[in-house]
Amino acid sequence: MQKNINTDTKDLFVGIDLGGTFVKIGCFSEKMEMLSKISIPTDNDRPKATMNSVVNALGSLLSQAGLRMEDIKAAGIGCPGVLDTKKGMIITSPNLPVYKGFSISRYVSEKINAPCILENDANVAGWGEYVLGAAEDVDDMVLLTLGTGIGGAVITDGKLIHGAGNSASELGHIIIYPEGRECGCTQRGCAETYASASATAKRANEMLAEGAASSLQDIFIERGDVSCKEVYEHASQGDRFAYEITELTAKVIGLLCVNIFSYSNPDKIVFSGGMIAAGQALLDRISFYFNKFIRKDIDVKIEFCFANLREDSGIIGSAALARDTFCLV
Ligand SMILES: [Zn+2]
Repeated sequence: MQKNINTDTKDLFVGIDLGGTFVKIGCFSEKMEMLSKISIPTDNDRPKATMNSVVNALGSLLSQAGLRMEDIKAAGIGCPGVLDTKKGMIITSPNLPVYKGFSISRYVSEKINAPCILENDANVAGWGEYVLGAAEDVDDMVLLTLGTGIGGAVITDGKLIHGAGNSASELGHIIIYPEGRECGCTQRGCAETYASASATAKRANEMLAEGAASSLQDIFIERGDVSCKEVYEHASQGDRFAYEITELTAKVIGLLCVNIFSYSNPDKIVFSGGMIAAGQALLDRISFYFNKFIRKDIDVKIEFCFANLREDSGIIGSAALARDTFCLV
């Protein structure tokens, strides 16, 4: 898709990644070259104080780089949770409960005197990959973040999908096993209750507690639990139990991708989050199960790959989304 952007070369774009522990702030040129970045602690109890600190930190960041607040053309804020993106406020966010109902984007917009957009963190990361990362060559893509839960972003014909109540693209809550494991969302059998990094570790720990034979038992006995990373490490070293745990993870993600294909038919599904440290073996097994379960009556073209932007995806994605929301012509 041809993207025409109405900006001057001196225009600045700000990306803010509002997390439960830290806020990352980045300043970018119109071509999304990072000019400077900083990280400050999040005040979980005082939203206004946090956003005041963000604006102050941004001011210092700009002056250190010889840049001016007046040159900020737009800002984007990414944060976890279900959001009202039209009002720029959080509807529900487990890590930032006190921020509920606070119009973050309007508050920041008034402080910096430039338009500001608030967007879900997975959507922001997806937009970053779409504009500047692993999916920059396609118009239809899906991002799946494999971490504590499974987050998602769906971009179709160059647009993020939000849905009527802003809860579209919560792909980790697609049900894979009816009447399966209980999910935090109150449904049962959601993909993320089996295949997130946390759920993968949880399934391993449950079976290790029952005495499953595995090279992971030494760690489990010493520490009381094993991590998802350790499960993948032991699987790659030939431990059968660890391998079976990772196989169910790959099977559930493969099934999830089959459902995603039927829903939005993306050119690419991009994976991000801590679990992608498992590397090519993870992609290969997801592809295996996708190919096993996908319909065979049509020509299915899809590519699975890892995200490119990594730890700065939140600030890059939100700055790019701000630019493309307010300056794309
Ligand atoms: Zn769920």
